[in-house]
Amino acid sequence: MGEPGQKSLWVMTQQQLDNVAELMHLDPRIHAILRHCKRVMEVSIPVKMDDGSLKVFTGWRVHHNLARGPAKGGVRYSPTLTLEEVKGLAMLMTWKCAVVDIPYGGAKGGVVCNPSELSDGELERLTRRYTTELILLLGPEKDIPAPDLGTDERIMAWMMDTYSMNVGYSVPGVVTGKPVNIGGSRGRREAPGRSVAICVEEAAARLGIRLEDARVVVQGFGKVGSVVALLLHSLGCKIVAVSDVKGGIYNPQGLNPVKLMSHKRQTKTVSDYKEGDYVTNEELLGLPCDILIPAAIEGMITEKNADKIRARLIVEAANGPITPEADTILRDRGIFIVPDILANAGGVVVSYFEWVQDIQQFFWTEQEVNERLRQVIKRAFGEVWEVMRERGVDMRTAAYILAISRVAEAIKMRGIYP
Ligand code: NAD
Repeated sequence: MGEPGQKSLWVMTQQQLDNVAELMHLDPRIHAILRHCKRVMEVSIPVKMDDGSLKVFTGWRVHHNLARGPAKGGVRYSPTLTLEEVKGLAMLMTWKCAVVDIPYGGAKGGVVCNPSELSDGELERLTRRYTTELILLLGPEKDIPAPDLGTDERIMAWMMDTYSMNVGYSVPGVVTGKPVNIGGSRGRREAPGRSVAICVEEAAARLGIRLEDARVVVQGFGKVGSVVALLLHSLGCKIVAVSDVKGGIYNPQGLNPVKLMSHKRQTKTVSDYKEGDYVTNEELLGLPCDILIPAAIEGMITEKNADKIRARLIVEAANGPITPEADTILRDRGIFIVPDILANAGGVVVSYFEWVQDIQQFFWTEQEVNERLRQVIKRAFGEVWEVMRERGVDMRTAAYILAISRVAEAIKMRGIYP
C-alpha cells in the first residue's frame, strides 16, 4: 500500500465508485453518502509481552455502509496495515455482500502487527483486548467479524469467547469462520474456491467453453487455488499448470491436484513437483490455456504482462489480481473476466450461512451448505450477466452497477435520517 506516489486502496475504491456512479447516473446525494465510511473506530491495544515489557498496538474497525444489514467483514493482522487500506476493504465488502444479495453491510478491521513474530500468548492477549475495545460495535445483530490475512479459526474462537465472557453467555453468532465444534459451518473453508469453480461453470456454459479437457492454469496453489484446482479437475478440466510464491509447474498433459496437494504437504511447495516442467510465475501467466485462475495476491496481472495472456476466460479467485490498466487491455483483447467480488464471494456467503445456523442453533450438512451456496452464486452470476447484456458493459462494471444500485435502493427506502 504505502509506497510514495501510489494511490491508497481507499482512493482507488472511491474512484471506482465515482466511475460507476457516473455511468449509472446515481443520485448525487446517495453517491456522496457512499463516498464516506459510516463510522471508524480506532483503538489502542496494550499487550503484556512475554519478556515482561509492554507494547501498545493500533487497531481499527470500520463500517462502510449498513443500509442492507449488520456489518460484515474480516479482521486483518498485518505489519503494513493502514486505516486507508481498512476503509477501502470495508467499501469492497459493501459491494461484495450486495452483489450476492446477502443481508449485510460492509465492514473491515485489523491491527498493525506481525502475527508471525508474536507468541501464542501474545497473540491471544492482543486479540482479546482488541475484541474488548470493540465491544460497543460488536454483536450478532450489529457487527460480525471473520478471518482475513493474518487471522484464522483460532483467533475467531478467542474473539467469540471474549465477547461471550463480556456479555455473560455464549454468543457463537458474533463471529464467523470459527472451528466447526464451537458453531462454525461445514464447507466454509472450501467456500471461496467453490464459488470460483461455480463461476467457471456458469461462464463456460455461456461462452461455449467445453469443460471436459479445458486447459486450466492456476496461479497460487493456496487455500483458495488448491480447492479450485481440485473441483475443476473433478469436472473434467485439465489442470496444466499451478504455482506458488516459489514458482510453478507445467504439464500440457495435465497435473493431478490430489497428488499435488500431498506433494505440497511434504515439501511445502508445488514448484519442485517432478511430473512437469518448472516455470516462473511470469511464464505461467503466458501459457496457452482456456481458463486462467489468478488465486495468489493482488496486482499480479499488469499492463506489462496483460498482452501475453493466452486464456479465453479469467475468473478472479484472488482479490484485485488484475490492475485497472491490465483490465482494459484484456477486455480489448476479448478475454472474458469474472470479477473477484462475485467469483470469490463464496467465503462471505457461507459466513452468512454460519451466522444463520448459529442464530437458529440448527446446523446443516456439508451437502446442504454446498447446495445453497451454488443457488446463491448461480443466481448472482445470472443477475450480473443480465446487467452486462442490458447495459453493454463488462462483467466487473455490471457487478458494481448491481451492487451499488442495491445499496442505493436500501438507502432511499430507509430515508436519510433525521
Ligand atoms: P494462501 O496464502 O493460502 O495462498 C496464496 C498462494 O499464493 C500461496 O500458494 C502462495 O505461495 C502464493 N503466492 C503468494 N505470493 C505470490 C506471488 N507473488 N506469486 C505467485 N504466487 C504467490 O491465501 P488464500 O487464502 O488462498 O488467498 C488467496 C487470494 O484469495 C487472496 O487474494 C485472498 O485475498 C483471496 N481470498 C481468500 C479468501 C479466503 O477465505 N481464504 C476468500 C476470498 C478471497
